[in-house]
Amino acid sequence: MRFIIRQWSKFAGWCSAKWSAWRSPSYRTVRVEELPEHPVKRILYIMGEGEHMWSVAMICPCGCGEVLQMGLLADARPRWTVSVDAKGIPTLSPSVWRQVGCKSHFFLIRGQIQWCG
Ligand SMILES: [Zn+2]
Repeated sequence: MRFIIRQWSKFAGWCSAKWSAWRSPSYRTVRVEELPEHPVKRILYIMGEGEHMWSVAMICPCGCGEVLQMGLLADARPRWTVSVDAKGIPTLSPSVWRQVGCKSHFFLIRGQIQWCG
């Protein structure tokens, strides 16, 4: 799989963007073995089997409709980590920065999108 998304800063404080989505409903997580044919907005799909997770996917929050996939495996480059709280609210680290299309650059922190730049 060829990733067209790059990692960027690990720290949201690096961005000057405001919490524009503060009042929006939180992202939730759904565990799947394969990405659904028609992914739904505001869902972070965690793909894997059992304890083994290899990637996450989500619809680009900018509204362009692209599906973004981020690798979680230790040998994936770039590689992301995802943590999910008791309510199923995800935090993705580091930020997601698309290199093509809409060029979106954002953090997903506690279920909220924080835009950069
Ligand atoms: Zn987009």
